[in-house]
Amino acid sequence: MNCVGCGLGAGYNRAVVDTIHDTEMGGFCFRCEEAEFGRSLDRGDWTASGDCAFCDRDGFYALPEWKPYCEEVAGRTVCKVDYRVTDETLRFCDEHFVCLHESAKPQDAGIQTRDDPRLRE
Ligand SMILES: [Zn+2]
Ligand SMILES: [Zn+2]
Repeated sequence: MNCVGCGLGAGYNRAVVDTIHDTEMGGFCFRCEEAEFGRSLDRGDWTASGDCAFCDRDGFYALPEWKPYCEEVAGRTVCKVDYRVTDETLRFCDEHFVCLHESAKPQDAGIQTRDDPRLRE
Protein backbone atom coordinates (compact mmCIF):
# COMPACT_ATOMS: atom_id res chain seq x y z
CA MET A 1 0.00 0.00 0.00
CA ASN A 2 1.45 3.35 -1.03
CA CYS A 3 1.15 6.68 0.73
CA VAL A 4 -1.27 9.17 -0.86
CA GLY A 5 1.17 11.98 -0.04
CA CYS A 6 4.61 10.85 -1.17
CA GLY A 7 3.75 7.72 -3.13
CA LEU A 8 6.23 5.57 -1.20
CA GLY A 9 5.36 2.56 0.94
CA ALA A 10 3.05 3.79 3.69
CA GLY A 11 3.77 1.09 6.27
CA TYR A 12 1.29 0.59 9.05
CA ASN A 13 0.59 4.17 10.07
CA ARG A 14 -2.82 5.14 8.69
CA ALA A 15 -5.01 3.85 5.92
CA VAL A 16 -6.97 6.19 3.66
CA VAL A 17 -10.54 5.09 3.02
CA ASP A 18 -13.14 6.66 0.76
CA THR A 19 -16.21 6.31 2.98
CA ILE A 20 -18.70 7.03 0.19
CA HIS A 21 -17.57 4.19 -2.03
CA ASP A 22 -16.13 2.20 0.85
CA THR A 23 -12.85 1.71 -0.95
CA GLU A 24 -9.31 1.79 0.36
CA MET A 25 -7.35 4.44 -1.50
CA GLY A 26 -3.96 3.81 0.02
CA GLY A 27 -2.10 4.77 3.15
CA PHE A 28 -0.70 7.86 4.81
CA CYS A 29 2.84 7.29 6.03
CA PHE A 30 4.36 8.46 9.29
CA ARG A 31 6.79 10.78 7.49
CA CYS A 32 4.03 12.65 5.68
CA GLU A 33 1.84 12.81 8.75
CA GLU A 34 4.67 14.27 10.79
CA ALA A 35 5.74 16.71 8.08
CA GLU A 36 2.20 17.95 7.61
CA PHE A 37 0.63 17.72 11.05
CA GLY A 38 3.31 16.83 13.61
CA ARG A 39 1.63 14.84 16.34
CA SER A 40 -1.61 16.81 16.21
CA LEU A 41 -3.61 14.07 14.48
CA ASP A 42 -2.74 11.74 17.33
CA ARG A 43 -3.63 14.26 19.98
CA GLY A 44 -6.82 15.64 18.52
CA ASP A 45 -10.24 14.49 19.56
CA TRP A 46 -12.16 13.61 16.40
CA THR A 47 -15.14 12.05 18.10
CA ALA A 48 -17.50 14.97 17.57
CA SER A 49 -19.18 13.83 14.36
CA GLY A 50 -18.54 12.60 10.87
CA ASP A 51 -17.30 16.03 9.86
CA CYS A 52 -13.95 17.02 8.43
CA ALA A 53 -11.22 17.61 11.02
CA PHE A 54 -10.57 21.10 9.64
CA CYS A 55 -13.98 22.42 8.70
CA ASP A 56 -17.63 21.54 9.18
CA ARG A 57 -18.19 19.87 5.84
CA ASP A 58 -18.85 16.14 5.64
CA GLY A 59 -15.79 13.99 6.12
CA PHE A 60 -15.72 11.80 3.05
CA TYR A 61 -12.26 10.42 3.60
CA ALA A 62 -11.34 8.54 6.75
CA LEU A 63 -7.79 8.02 7.98
CA PRO A 64 -8.02 5.18 10.49
CA GLU A 65 -4.88 4.09 12.32
CA TRP A 66 -3.51 0.60 11.92
CA LYS A 67 -3.75 -1.12 15.29
CA PRO A 68 -2.14 -4.37 16.31
CA TYR A 69 -4.43 -6.95 17.86
CA CYS A 70 -4.20 -10.59 18.81
CA GLU A 71 -6.75 -13.33 18.43
CA GLU A 72 -7.01 -16.97 19.32
CA VAL A 73 -6.95 -19.23 16.29
CA ALA A 74 -7.13 -22.96 16.92
CA GLY A 75 -5.62 -22.57 20.37
CA ARG A 76 -2.78 -20.33 19.22
CA THR A 77 -2.49 -16.60 19.62
CA VAL A 78 -2.10 -14.87 16.27
CA CYS A 79 -1.23 -11.18 16.16
CA LYS A 80 -2.24 -9.02 13.23
CA VAL A 81 -2.72 -5.38 12.35
CA ASP A 82 -5.99 -3.99 11.13
CA TYR A 83 -7.90 -0.73 11.04
CA ARG A 84 -11.50 0.10 11.66
CA VAL A 85 -13.46 3.13 10.48
CA THR A 86 -15.76 4.31 13.26
CA ASP A 87 -17.43 7.55 14.34
CA GLU A 88 -14.18 8.40 16.14
CA THR A 89 -11.98 8.09 13.09
CA LEU A 90 -10.21 11.17 11.78
CA ARG A 91 -11.90 12.41 8.60
CA PHE A 92 -11.24 14.93 5.86
CA CYS A 93 -13.64 16.55 3.41
CA ASP A 94 -12.78 16.39 -0.29
CA GLU A 95 -11.23 19.85 -0.23
CA HIS A 96 -8.95 19.20 2.72
CA PHE A 97 -8.11 15.76 1.41
CA VAL A 98 -6.76 17.36 -1.77
CA CYS A 99 -4.53 19.61 0.38
CA LEU A 100 -3.12 16.57 2.09
CA HIS A 101 -2.61 14.89 -1.24
CA GLU A 102 -0.70 17.77 -2.73
CA SER A 103 1.21 19.26 0.14
CA ALA A 104 2.41 16.18 1.98
CA LYS A 105 5.63 15.90 0.06
CA PRO A 106 8.56 15.94 2.47
CA GLN A 107 11.09 16.66 -0.30
CA ASP A 108 9.37 19.99 -0.96
CA ALA A 109 9.48 21.11 2.64
CA GLY A 110 11.07 24.52 3.01
CA ILE A 111 10.80 25.47 -0.65
CA GLN A 112 8.75 28.61 -1.02
CA THR A 113 6.88 28.91 -4.26
CA ARG A 114 5.95 32.33 -5.57
CA ASP A 115 3.94 30.94 -8.40
CA ASP A 116 0.77 30.41 -6.42
CA PRO A 117 -2.00 31.86 -8.60
CA ARG A 118 -3.88 33.00 -5.48
CA LEU A 119 -1.10 35.51 -4.78
CA ARG A 120 -1.54 37.21 -8.12
CA GLU A 121 -5.17 38.06 -7.86
ZN1 LIG B 1 4.08 9.61 2.67
ZN1 LIG C 1 -12.56 20.19 5.43
